[in-house]
Amino acid sequence: MAIRIEHKRFVGGIEGSLSKLGTFFLVLGIIGSFFAFLLAVFSKEAVFLLLIFVFMFHSIVSLILLRGFAEVIRILKKLANIQYGGEISKSFAAGDVFICSECRAIVGEKDQRKWCHKCGSSFENLLTK
Ligand SMILES: [Zn+2]
Repeated sequence: MAIRIEHKRFVGGIEGSLSKLGTFFLVLGIIGSFFAFLLAVFSKEAVFLLLIFVFMFHSIVSLILLRGFAEVIRILKKLANIQYGGEISKSFAAGDVFICSECRAIVGEKDQRKWCHKCGSSFENLLTK
């Protein structure tokens, strides 16, 4: 039986501003790319197509970096028990990795050998799934 725990969410703070600035740069990059596309079409100059790449690359890199900075601030505030705006991003499991308990070498999931390829230790039940 589980209990319901109230979790308050907050907005704002410099971390919220950094996230919004990243989104602003993304929108700016999309708008700039649109105008660069129009320039390329009407002027028939291929160099403006390169401008699309520059706009999108700059805006996506800015978005990732600014949101990363915001995340660092959120984590620091969480560690210091200070309220922080926004949410800390979550990661998801990408799959299982098997490692040797003796030498920490990665053992392939489909590897049918009963011993570690690096240190030679024998496995008992590591490859059963
Ligand atoms: Zn090993």
